Amino acid sequence: MFSTAAAFPATRTAALARLAAFVPAAPRYGAERNRVAPGHNAVSRLSPAIRHRLILEAEAAAALLGAHAFPAVEKCVQEIVWRTYWKGWLELRPQVWADFKSAVPALRASLPAATLARADAVAAGRSGVAAMDAFARELAATGYLHNHARMWWASFWIHVERLPWELGADHFRRHLLDADPAANTLSWRWVAGLQTPGKTYLVRRSNLAAWCDPALLADPAGLDRLDDPVVSAAPLPATRPPAAGPLADLPATPPAAPARTGLWLHEDDLLPELGPLSDLRPASIAAFAAAGETDAELSPPRRAHLAAVRADACARAAAAFGCAAAVDPAPDFAAAFGAWIESAGLQRIVALAPAVGPVADLLPVARTVAAARGVELVLVRRAWDRLLWPLARAGFFPFWENLRPRLAAREAALFS
Ligand SMILES: Cc1cc2nc3c(=O)[nH]c(=O)nc-3n(C[C@H](O)[C@H](O)[C@H](O)COP(=O)(O)OP(=O)(O)OC[C@H]3O[C@@H](n4cnc5c(N)ncnc54)[C@H](O)[C@@H]3O)c2cc1C
Repeated sequence: MFSTAAAFPATRTAALARLAAFVPAAPRYGAERNRVAPGHNAVSRLSPAIRHRLILEAEAAAALLGAHAFPAVEKCVQEIVWRTYWKGWLELRPQVWADFKSAVPALRASLPAATLARADAVAAGRSGVAAMDAFARELAATGYLHNHARMWWASFWIHVERLPWELGADHFRRHLLDADPAANTLSWRWVAGLQTPGKTYLVRRSNLAAWCDPALLADPAGLDRLDDPVVSAAPLPATRPPAAGPLADLPATPPAAPARTGLWLHEDDLLPELGPLSDLRPASIAAFAAAGETDAELSPPRRAHLAAVRADACARAAAAFGCAAAVDPAPDFAAAFGAWIESAGLQRIVALAPAVGPVADLLPVARTVAAARGVELVLVRRAWDRLLWPLARAGFFPFWENLRPRLAAREAALFS
C-alpha cells in the first residue's frame, strides 16, 4: 500500500502546478505534516523538484506568502528554509561531505561480512520489523519517503540495528529522487546525534502509533524492538562538527565579455532562464549525464528522475535562450566536457554555482579541461544562496530567528 507511487514533479510545469495545488492547503500543513499516510497528501511532495531547482526555494516561499498571512504558513516556510540552512551549513564545512564520501568505501572494505550482510538485508526490506521493511520497499519502488518515515527508518538503522550512519545515508543517496548531499548527509548525522552534539533522534513505537496510518502497523512483526523503553542511543564517536569556514566569493552575475559562451546546465540548478543568467546569450547549452553520480550507483527511479529533469531543463533553456541545448549521454565527463568546448568553439563557460556535492566535486576536472583549451569557467551564485548560506554558522534556530522577520516582511533582496 505504501509503495503506491505518488506522482513526483519532474518538470517545471508539473512543479508549478503542484505548488499551486498545495498553496491553498498550506495553512493545515503545520498540524498535519507529521502524519504518514498513503499518498502523502499532508505534505507538498515538491522535494524532487526543489532539489534540482525546477522551482526555487524563493518561489515556493513567495507563493505561500503571497496567498496567506505569515503566521498561517510559517511552519511551511520554515521547512523550506531548513533546506537552505543545510545547504549553507555544508557549504561552510565541505570537509563533512569529503569525510562521508571516503567513509563509505572504507566501511565496506573493513566491516565484518556479517555486518555488511545485515546492512544489505535491512536496506532491502528484510529486517523482520514489518513497518520498517514497508518503508524500505516504498523507498525502492518510488524514490520517496515521508520526512517522519525517513527519521524513523534512519533511527532504526543507527540506534536499533546499530549500523553505521554513513551506509544508511549512502543507501538514501542512491534511492531518493530528492537525494541531496546536504539535506541527506546532515539529516543522517542529526539522527545519529553528531550534528547537535548530545541530541539523538530515537524511533519509538508510541510515536509510530501516534502518526502512522494504522494499516502500516497492522503487521506487528518486530515492533517490540521499537518499544519505547527498549530503544537507546548508539554510542557516538567523540567528535564535534567542524567550525564554519568562509563562503567562497562568487559573482552575482557573469562579467560582460564578447567571448563565445557555453552555458553548462547541471542538476544542482536547472533553472538558468530565471535569475542571474537570464540575460546571457549562449552560443551552446549542454548538460552531462556523467556530471555527478554514475548511473550504476543509482536506483532505476532515481536515474529516470535525473534524466527527466535534465531533459526538461534543456527544453526550457533552448526555448528561453534561442539556442540548441542537449544532454550529452557519454559516461566520461572530462571527455564529454572537452569535446563540447571544441565542437561548439567555446571561449568561456558559464554556470550557476553547484553546491558542495557530486557536481562540485567535478569542478577541478572541468577547470583543468577548460584551461587546457584556453577557456575560463565562470560560476555565478544566486542572491538567495549568497545572502542566506553564510548565516548557517551555528544551529538552525539562530538562522531562523535572523530570517523570520525578513521573510515575514518579504524582503525584496531575498526574492530577487
Ligand atoms: C534521514 C533523512 C534524510 C533526508 N534526506 C533528504 C534529501 O536527500 N533531500 C531532501 O530534500 N530532503 C531530505 N530530508 C528532509 C525531508 O525529509 C524532505 O525534504 C521532505 O520529506 C521532502 O518531502 P516534501 O517535499 O513533501 O516536504 P514538505 O514537508 O512539503 O516540505 C517542503 C519543502 O521543504 C524542504 N524541507 C522540508 N523538510 C525538510 C527538512 N527536514 N530538511 C531539509 N529540507 C526540508 C524540502 O525542499 C521540501 O520539498 C531528509 C530527512 C531525513 C530525516
